[in-house]
Amino acid sequence: MAIPQINVAGDKEGQFISRTFVNVLGTEYKIRIKTDDEEPYFKLGIADGYCSGLEKEITILNCFRYARIKDESSTYKAERMKDALRHEIVHAFLYESGLDTDSHQEKEAWARNEEMVDWIAKQGHKIHMAWETVGCLPMIMSPDNWLDFNASQTSSLTEET
Ligand SMILES: [Zn+2]
Repeated sequence: MAIPQINVAGDKEGQFISRTFVNVLGTEYKIRIKTDDEEPYFKLGIADGYCSGLEKEITILNCFRYARIKDESSTYKAERMKDALRHEIVHAFLYESGLDTDSHQEKEAWARNEEMVDWIAKQGHKIHMAWETVGCLPMIMSPDNWLDFNASQTSSLTEET
């Protein structure tokens, strides 16, 4: 089955995020790509994305239509969006795990520590590769099972704009 491509910017540069949803521990999170005109939070320039555990949505800044970085390369914009998406997916996993809000203290909870979330977002695929290399992935995570699991939940990417 061909994986549908999300076209976030109305052109080829946006075709790297493959789905409008992600399975987070059995809960479907919508992935939305918005410009800073569509999402005032992005106008502040303090984040490229956010995750709403209550609404099961992840919203990512459309870097291809972001004036502040209009002169950057397509690679820069795509990698920046992927960075943000990985980061927000980590937030979603922590939320669905029940670790998001407490983690022993009201302020500076470890599960809301941006550095810790970023560490997982930046190292997760390397840890996964190490596990895969030595063949110790759990059965559900073998590439065939994982793709089948996600393919069964694939929704049209063009229905969400
Ligand atoms: Zn964060």
